[in-house]
Amino acid sequence: EPDPTLRPEPRPEDVDRALRPQRLVDFIGQAEARANLAVFIESARQRGEAMDHALFHGPPGLGKTTLAQIMARELGVNFRMTSGPVLAKAGDLAAILTNLERNDVLFIDEIHRLNPVVEEVLYPALEDFELDLVIGEGPAARTVRIELQPFTLVGATTRLGLLTTPLRDRFGIPTRLEFYTEDELHEIVTRNAVKLGAPADAEGAREIARRARGTPRIAGRLLRRVLDFAVVEGEGHITREIADNALTRLGVDRLGLDGADRRYLGLMAEHYAGGPVGIETLAAALSESRDALEEVIEPFLLQQGLIQRTPRGRMLGQRAWTHLGLPPPRAPGQ
Ligand code: ADP
Repeated sequence: EPDPTLRPEPRPEDVDRALRPQRLVDFIGQAEARANLAVFIESARQRGEAMDHALFHGPPGLGKTTLAQIMARELGVNFRMTSGPVLAKAGDLAAILTNLERNDVLFIDEIHRLNPVVEEVLYPALEDFELDLVIGEGPAARTVRIELQPFTLVGATTRLGLLTTPLRDRFGIPTRLEFYTEDELHEIVTRNAVKLGAPADAEGAREIARRARGTPRIAGRLLRRVLDFAVVEGEGHITREIADNALTRLGVDRLGLDGADRRYLGLMAEHYAGGPVGIETLAAALSESRDALEEVIEPFLLQQGLIQRTPRGRMLGQRAWTHLGLPPPRAPGQ
């Protein structure tokens, strides 16, 4: 019977793995992270040891899972994948760890959502490749120590701030993934178009890249949707005009913002005069979870200077007023 803890939660937006780069040289962007990882991988290979534990943090869809898979491939070891919420009991983690082969890569997505009991079991596994398991209950309970094969843990999180300090401290290679530049996304879209057999001219690919919210996963999704429009309403060829029309119809605006982004900005402008507004107030007014705002919506708006975080709450940036086509409120006395 397959081990249920090894089945990651399904990611509907990522059904097709065909677009994932397979080797480090094919991974575009994140130049600093890539250059450092290349050194650590090569060193681990030459020494025949497990690479040190790595923590990838940053917004969803930037390539954390992809990089972890590439690491395993470059190291020539197995890749095992699970996620924080799936590991409910210490035994779930133990089952995975005891099945690892020498120097394998274990990827734990959403590692900030690990149960504290499971996290405790993970510490000695990370430091000494040992497990201390309590067997039985009450007076009959005893601890057994199990030796593990050396392995590399790759943790991924969208919320670095939610990791406990002891867990954070156990990663020798903390790596922050950044939003991609338009040029990097242009390269990614161009390559993906080839992989999908979708002819795209340079300007068509550029339009998709410009509106992909700095995120390869979104670029992949938009490319597929634009291709649908090109096939049905064009000649199957992705041009700038086809891309622009399709993206506008999909509700993706010139900055790459979608409906949820615009609702956020519109609410701030129209109901709170641009802020400051507390995050809980925004979450309630938008009927979104605070986590969704902080993990998915806000990072890109912050990076684009559309909003700012202040001690008193979120504020609209000048650029947001311009984008919304609204006049900013006058400061008192002006
Ligand atoms: P995360 O784990 O950070 O949420 P993923 O690794 O699942 O992100 O990547 C999301 C999608 O974007 C994948 O389909 C992957 O193929 C693509 N992708 C991510 N980074 C890159 C990159 N640097 N180059 C090309 N495609 C990428």
